[in-house]
Amino acid sequence: MRWSSKLQFSVPSSQFPVSRFPLRTENWELRTRVLAILLATVTLLSAAPSAPVTDEAHISVYSPVAVYTLPVLERGGREYVGLLELLEPLGRVSSQTDGRRWRLRYNTVDADFAAGKTRARIHGHDFDFTAPFLIESSRGLVPLSSLSALLPRFLGTSINFRESARRLFIGDVGIQASFRLDATNPPRLLLNFSAPVNPTISTEPGKLRMVFKRDPVVSPGSQSISFDNKIITHASYSENNGDAELDVTANQPLMATFSDDRKTIIVSAVQPAPATPSGVRTGPQNPTQAAPAGNIAPATHRVLAVVDPAHGGEERGAALTDTLAEKDVTLGFARLLRHELETRGFAVTLLRDADTSSTLDQRATAANVARAGIYISLHATSQGSGARVYTALLPVEGTSNGLFHAWNAAQAPALPVSRIVSAAIVTEMQKKEFPVRGSSASLRPLNNLLMPAVAVELAPGADGVADLTSANYQQRAASAIADAVVSVRDRLGVQP
Ligand SMILES: [Zn+2]
Repeated sequence: MRWSSKLQFSVPSSQFPVSRFPLRTENWELRTRVLAILLATVTLLSAAPSAPVTDEAHISVYSPVAVYTLPVLERGGREYVGLLELLEPLGRVSSQTDGRRWRLRYNTVDADFAAGKTRARIHGHDFDFTAPFLIESSRGLVPLSSLSALLPRFLGTSINFRESARRLFIGDVGIQASFRLDATNPPRLLLNFSAPVNPTISTEPGKLRMVFKRDPVVSPGSQSISFDNKIITHASYSENNGDAELDVTANQPLMATFSDDRKTIIVSAVQPAPATPSGVRTGPQNPTQAAPAGNIAPATHRVLAVVDPAHGGEERGAALTDTLAEKDVTLGFARLLRHELETRGFAVTLLRDADTSSTLDQRATAANVARAGIYISLHATSQGSGARVYTALLPVEGTSNGLFHAWNAAQAPALPVSRIVSAAIVTEMQKKEFPVRGSSASLRPLNNLLMPAVAVELAPGADGVADLTSANYQQRAASAIADAVVSVRDRLGVQP
């Protein structure tokens, strides 16, 4: 944790042994086992299904030297792409035009094209397009349907153009995918790839979706595989508009994790959220309250937990190693905690779910406006071991007045419950063998929050700083925090 300069500790360091500016007193053994974890849940309780994303038409090009996408233009009912733009990343290319003819040189290959004509001359040979060549703003446009025949004339290498999917493979670059279902309890689906992959993972009810925008993943043989399993029922492969997509269908929440080398994705079913969470916010339930027409009312009122991955964007937090920034650890940890809380029946909002920055005031305001039942800020440090849990240390009465004071002491009514939450986290983390202690500190934004609020700072375990990126280590911590929050669920909410 590197508190920003706005944060002030108001207790002497002898009582509060936390270094504000962590000193690099050791040469860290750089075992940067950077394990990226992506967690996603498919929750059948979630709201409306996401609307389909409409991308502009584009073509993806995968070659040993470059992976890129180019816009696809529709002209006269056919799809076209700029030829110069297509060849540019692959070699030396130049063009010139007088508006009617277009000359192109690629490496040592000369070509001559005429606007509106289907016949061209390439390296001394005729070439016939499937639709007329076009010149627009000095750019030469060629129909996609001619690429399979056209490109080998320039490149002298084999290509594989999957026209309906707009995916162009130059040379032997395809990444093979294979599936294997482990019928363990809960079951796991292992997706193996012949090279590292970096898909975007998202969920919708009943489905985990992996979209490969830059990876030349090719079909795992069959487009759809059904599994003889009650939970993970099938997987399917599709490709469209330059992207490949793998979807896994299940009737329980799914979680995806990557292996260290990013060549295996493990999709596993997790325990579903309890159908009727036992805790509700303060206030009696009103069984006669009718749901708005057309909406399905949730069975109970779910407590909203706001999880705040500290730092982000330009503000990197502490340098945990030469290459590892605190902001990245807090984000991964926050996603795990979100998952743990969701599986325990909480609604969860992350204050950031990407590498973005926001001020402490913005974070506090977001949590207050959302009327969160609990706020948990996450930090990480390379110093010490285990974890520390903080609650707010409020300004002494009478030292300031007016609105500023009110903002800085907004936490006052909730502070007793915050301390109960902190104690519960200490207890649960100790059960999981983390050396942990609770403290209070005059740190923002805890002071500014209306609901029970804590900050948890994760420190290394027995394996040193590598623990901070270890899925297992983070998972144990997240699970302990979530268990603690469950144990105090009935106390949560904005205090009157
Ligand atoms: Zn921090």
